[in-house]
Amino acid sequence: NFADAIGAPKIPNVFWDDVGGLEEAKQTVVESIQANMYGSQGLKRSGIILHGAPGCGKTLIAKAVATEFKVAFLSVKGPELLNKYVGQSEENLRKVFERARQASPCIIFFDEIDSLAPNRGKNGDSGGVIDRIVSQLLSELDKLHNSSKTKVFVMGATNRPDLLDSSLLTPGRFDKLVEITPGRDFSTRTKILEAVARKVRLHEDVDLTEIAKACDEEMSGAQLSALVSNAAMRAIIERVQQIESGQLQSKTGELRLTQKHLLRSLH
Ligand code: ATP
Repeated sequence: NFADAIGAPKIPNVFWDDVGGLEEAKQTVVESIQANMYGSQGLKRSGIILHGAPGCGKTLIAKAVATEFKVAFLSVKGPELLNKYVGQSEENLRKVFERARQASPCIIFFDEIDSLAPNRGKNGDSGGVIDRIVSQLLSELDKLHNSSKTKVFVMGATNRPDLLDSSLLTPGRFDKLVEITPGRDFSTRTKILEAVARKVRLHEDVDLTEIAKACDEEMSGAQLSALVSNAAMRAIIERVQQIESGQLQSKTGELRLTQKHLLRSLH
């Protein structure tokens, strides 16, 4: 059932150091949370929507900001919430907000928010399920304004901001669309590689700048992260093969990722 599937909100384990680059977006998100969760009363509180290509770090930033502010995080994918039974999708949405209020202070993160509130255009589904979900969402956002004690901040993420219903994008609802731009320059790619490589042991010969220069410009954060994981896997396989072939004693030295492992994973 849906309530079990979304789980309990908890403080994530992702830190700013895990997020490479994206400085401007980080700052915008931090300022928005400061103003909306901890700002003065009477302010019309609004959420924000992060947009950018798949794997560019939207979820990562949202989790990191929750960790840094030590607030619980409740992540829901839009399509998960949709249910074919009449009224059930709205009920699911109501439960999400209820759960967040109980866990206050809490950030709700709606991934793929365009699936919940797609632009209905001229031939909208008046009175249909999408209309009811959008109005439920707007009424839940209004309820948050009226309760000063509960601190709930709402974030959405989408790859297609052009598909969002415009009624969502107003002050008091979602007033900021924050673009998460992928690192098209090698210095951003270096920062992302440094962030993902924090979790592995690197040989002294590793030069992440050189790797970043050799990477395709189009590579997303998720692809850069996969590059490092693949290289780490190569290092392990190589070590096992060396032990099996008698080239190495099982206790010899520590396993470290070398530049060669990284370069090989690149091509
Ligand atoms: P989607 O639209 O597919 O949901 P997303 O933008 O939410 O994608 P994330 O889930 O945040 O993408 O990123 C996927 C993974 O890629 C992260 O868990 C992380 O390992 C890596 N990653 C992405 N961007 C960065 C970054 N800027 N720094 C470090 N790692 C990154």
